[in-house]
Amino acid sequence: MYQLTYLLYKHQWHIPPSMKVTMEVNNRYITIKTHIEGAPKESDFELKNAALALSIEAGSNDVIVKTLYVSIDPYQINLMKSYSSSRKATVAAAPITPGEAIDGYGVAKVVVSGNPEFQKDELVVGFVGWGEYKLVKGGDRLRNLDPMGFPLSYHAGIFGYGGLTAYSGFFEICKPRKGEKVFVSGASGSVGNLVGQFAKLFGCYVVGSVGNNKKVALLKEKLGFDDAFNYKEEPDLKATLRRYFPDGIDVYFDNVGGDMLEAAVANMNLFGRVAACGAISEYTNASKRASPNMLDVVYKRIKIQGFLVSDHINLYADFVSTIGDHLRNGKIQPLEDISNGVESIPSAFIGLFQGDNIGKKIVCVAED
Ligand code: NAP
Repeated sequence: MYQLTYLLYKHQWHIPPSMKVTMEVNNRYITIKTHIEGAPKESDFELKNAALALSIEAGSNDVIVKTLYVSIDPYQINLMKSYSSSRKATVAAAPITPGEAIDGYGVAKVVVSGNPEFQKDELVVGFVGWGEYKLVKGGDRLRNLDPMGFPLSYHAGIFGYGGLTAYSGFFEICKPRKGEKVFVSGASGSVGNLVGQFAKLFGCYVVGSVGNNKKVALLKEKLGFDDAFNYKEEPDLKATLRRYFPDGIDVYFDNVGGDMLEAAVANMNLFGRVAACGAISEYTNASKRASPNMLDVVYKRIKIQGFLVSDHINLYADFVSTIGDHLRNGKIQPLEDISNGVESIPSAFIGLFQGDNIGKKIVCVAED
């Protein structure tokens, strides 16, 4: 029956009204088995199979999409916990229920649509999921995608939330000035590598911290960072930053929190700015919380500002046009790390917390 319905769907054969066939596909998707409190591991996840009818409620605006590329993001671990303080702050931090499908930002193709904004076979971008197909109620949080001649994966990555986070966080929150000294942690990741590249293009001096020597070489040799170091080889981070910034740090773009935030604050200049983008070193360890020296913060008049990319959607058009130009002119190097197949999503996600990824982590669920 599945074979028949799939062939009918694939070839769009005419189905006589008398023949009551509901076309359906087998949908493979990832769920969590229970809430996850520490570092995620393979046994926390399950690959589920379920038939999905390729039909929508008559009169609804629902859309069924087929996932092509999905972004894998560290913040999702906070949604998998039984409790996270992030939930009070934004609806985007709604918890994930064990056993249920998981949302994820990505690129998809419309399979069935009752929504006049989305037609069959069109490309869309938005909250699809960690699965092969998704029924998107009302077509919410989807928009039509014009790939602008770029690979589709770019629209799950560099043109997606990671790119806008780097752009808005660096320009709006750090408010850089040419010639300033910028430090970026998590510097080979999705957000960090772009912050460093934006800072260099803008005329700043940039140093990045990363978790292995291959990444150090990449930042210096391919991405144009002035310097970089492997934080895992540095027993005294305050002394390390003093070595890399003998004249102090003006801007710190913080992706990791923890000890690195404390060390950066200790090395900040007067009126320094810290963009608190993320705290990945604390996400999987509830006992680890940064406690920067508040005397430094007060007397050096340091501004530490948290932000969410969702506050800066108004910059999206400007961001797309800027980064599109930089990519076409070779001024920004896209850095992506792509795995294949829905079954690779758990290891891709787990790898974020072990430093496995170099650049934006994406899973190609299907090419077409
Ligand atoms: P990513 O950097 O591409 O991937 C995670 C990287 O973090 C890993 O490759 C690893 O690199 C590093 N890492 C993992 N555990 C670490 C630890 N204990 N200490 C230090 N580094 C560690 O991820 P991303 O998507 O660009 O996100 C970076 C940060 O920005 C995250 O904290 C994320 O939550 C945050 N974020 C915030 C917003 C917002 O709106 N505020 C939006 C997007 C992302 P190494 O090899 O260098 O350790």
